[in-house]
Amino acid sequence: MKAGLIYDPIYLEHDTGSHVENSQRLVAIMSHLGEAGLINQATTFPPRLASIEELEMVHAPEYISKIKIVAERGGGWLDPDTVMCPKSYDVALYAAGGLLTAVETVMKGEVDSAFALVRPPGHHATRNRAMGFCIFNNVAVAAKFALANFNLNRVLIADFDVHHGNGTQETFYADPRVLYFSTHQYPFYPGTGRIDEIGTGEGEGTTVNFPMIAGWGDEEYLRAFNEVLVPVARRFQPQLILVSAGFDPHWADSLAMMQVSITGFAQIVMVLKELADELCQGRLVFTLEGGYNLQVSASSVKATFDVLLGNPEIVDPLGKSSARKPGGFDQHIEKIKKIHHAT
Ligand SMILES: [Zn+2]
Repeated sequence: MKAGLIYDPIYLEHDTGSHVENSQRLVAIMSHLGEAGLINQATTFPPRLASIEELEMVHAPEYISKIKIVAERGGGWLDPDTVMCPKSYDVALYAAGGLLTAVETVMKGEVDSAFALVRPPGHHATRNRAMGFCIFNNVAVAAKFALANFNLNRVLIADFDVHHGNGTQETFYADPRVLYFSTHQYPFYPGTGRIDEIGTGEGEGTTVNFPMIAGWGDEEYLRAFNEVLVPVARRFQPQLILVSAGFDPHWADSLAMMQVSITGFAQIVMVLKELADELCQGRLVFTLEGGYNLQVSASSVKATFDVLLGNPEIVDPLGKSSARKPGGFDQHIEKIKKIHHAT
C-alpha cells in the first residue's frame, strides 16, 4: 500500500508567535515521522500553490484580496483567535494547494491514500471570514476541486477534530454532492453542529452532525463512526473520502475535554480506510486540522500512517484515559441514527 505525505518547510513560515497553533506542531510531527522511519516508507510530494480561481470555489474574491492586503501590510489579527504574519497569505495558498496535490496524487492512482501535513488549518474558515486559527478552508477547496476536475459527483468529508467544522458545513450545506460528517465536543467552540443541522434544500440529509458530551472517548467515537457514518456512507456511495484530522479530542490535549486515545484515533482511521477500500477504491485523503499536544499529534499522525501503510503495530505512548465518563450515549446515538435513517 502506498501512502503519500505532502509537506514543505514553507508551512513553518506562518509565524503566529506564542499562539497555540504554531510551527512547532509540524516540527514535532515531522521529526517523529523521521525518527520512526515513516518518511522513507511514505511517498513524499511537495505541495503546489492553490490558484485564486480554485480558492474562489469556496471563498469570496473580496475576502481573498483582503487576506493578501493584510499580509502585505505586515500581518495582524483577523479575529480574536486568528493571526497572520507577512508570509501567511503565501503559506495559506500552499496549505490549500497541499490538499490539491494530495487529491491529485490519489485520484491519479500514484498513491492509495495521502496525508497533507499543512498549516494554517482550515475547517473553520467560511466564505468571507477567517476564524478559529483558519484562513482558507483547505478541505472544502479540495472537495470542490475534486468535484470539478475529476468528474466526481459524490465526496465524503469526515471531520473528527474536536471542534465543529462550521466553515466546511456552511460551504456544502445545500450541496447534495458532499456528505459532511462531524464528531465534535458540544456545546463548545464554534457553537454550531447540533444534531438537527442536517443540510438544506437538495443538501438535506447530507450534513451529519454527531455532537459529543465532554468526557466521552474511544468507545463513543468508534460507535459514532461504525453505527452512523458507515451506514450513511454506504448509502451515499462516495467516490473519494477526505478527512479533517484534528487530534484535539485526545484526553491529553488541553484545548478541549474529550477522552480519545491515540489507539482510538488509529481505530477511527481503520474504519475510514475500510470504508474507502469498500466504496471508492481506497481513495482517502487526510489533512491536519487541530491538535495542540505535540506528543499526541506526532504519535497520532504516525499511527495514521501505520494504518494507511498496513503496518501491524500501533504505538500509543500515552495509553487510554481513566476518567469517569458521563452516561446518556445510548439514547443520544439512537436519536442521531433515527434522524439519518442509519440502520
Ligand atoms: Zn480543533
